[in-house]
Amino acid sequence: MEATVTTTLITGIAELVTHADADSINEAETATLTNAALIIADDRIAWTGPATQAPPADTRVDLNGRAVIPGFVDSHAHLIFAGDRAQEFAARMTGTPYSAGGIRTTVAATRAADDETLRANLKRLTTEMLRQGTTTVECKSGYGLTVEDEARALKLAREQVEAVTYLGAHVIPAEYQHDPDAYVDLVKGDMLDSCAPYADYADVFCERGAFTEDQAREILTAARAKGLDVRLHANQLGPGPGVQLAVELGAASADHCTFLNDEDVEALAGSQTVATLLPGVEFSTRSPYPDARRLIAAGATVALATDCNPGSCYTDSMPFCIALAVREMRMSPAEALWAATAGGARALRRDDIGHLGVGARADFAVLDAPSFLHLAYRPGVPLVHRVWKNGTPAAC
Ligand SMILES: [Zn+2]
Repeated sequence: MEATVTTTLITGIAELVTHADADSINEAETATLTNAALIIADDRIAWTGPATQAPPADTRVDLNGRAVIPGFVDSHAHLIFAGDRAQEFAARMTGTPYSAGGIRTTVAATRAADDETLRANLKRLTTEMLRQGTTTVECKSGYGLTVEDEARALKLAREQVEAVTYLGAHVIPAEYQHDPDAYVDLVKGDMLDSCAPYADYADVFCERGAFTEDQAREILTAARAKGLDVRLHANQLGPGPGVQLAVELGAASADHCTFLNDEDVEALAGSQTVATLLPGVEFSTRSPYPDARRLIAAGATVALATDCNPGSCYTDSMPFCIALAVREMRMSPAEALWAATAGGARALRRDDIGHLGVGARADFAVLDAPSFLHLAYRPGVPLVHRVWKNGTPAAC
């Protein structure tokens, strides 16, 4: 006997952004319907179209003229940590430059925290994210930096988020400062063995002061051999080899992309590697923003994510990142929304999220606004009215 499918008609949608058939950011403007409706069957989108043509369904929800957008896909976040670095932020705002070394402060606090503390902090952050319209979260380890602490971080992340990334190569921990190669051996050896069962991806902070190109290649090649997909923190603090390495390895994404030369842009444009831009970092470190227009013009796939972390960017708000992308990186509001949804899905190599085409997971945000344009037009205003995840209204 077949299970009964429950259908729900969502109507009264002033504007519905589906991104169905918007296969690239250059088509971001195309998939928007007005006076629309959609039908959910179980946890999937079953129909979208003009409200006047909506077929019947078991139940009906009237949104009274609100906009509906795909749930945000935050494809880059560091959420397993203890403590905060508010004092470091205050010092930075009054003249101390950002450096990767501050990560070690969080490593000490995270190692000292018990599981319940880390679990509760993650819950607080993922709840904030859901409330702001984020329906898929990627979470990295990287504040443990021992075999045991990295595996613990990934296990805890796995309980609450659906995309988990092993970032043992976040920074060289203090106890290995005298012998970085020994730490690289650990990251691609015993630590990888313990972490791989809990992770979907491996990531390396490839930057001056963190890991070199050769170290990153060794670690990511070992991770891929263990069945993990790969991604890279690349070209954040200055020009470097990270983007080229990401493309060479066929990485799912190269994240930051702040300092790119023409060859880097060309390499991204000719690849399946997504350029993930994290403008909250530039905002919070008072640094120059990546050149989004150059990437889009070249034909690269661009994603937007928060990079939420206690050091360089402690926001988990995708609407805020959209406002920054529009105001500071000159993306159109439609491009920014596409990058924050469909772009993020591509950065995670997922095709069932980030859009509201038929068959997609029914993950969407209802805005207290008649149009998605308000996300950038009304920065800092909590516009998310309600969030649906897996076809049901989320409690948050
Ligand atoms: Zn990051």
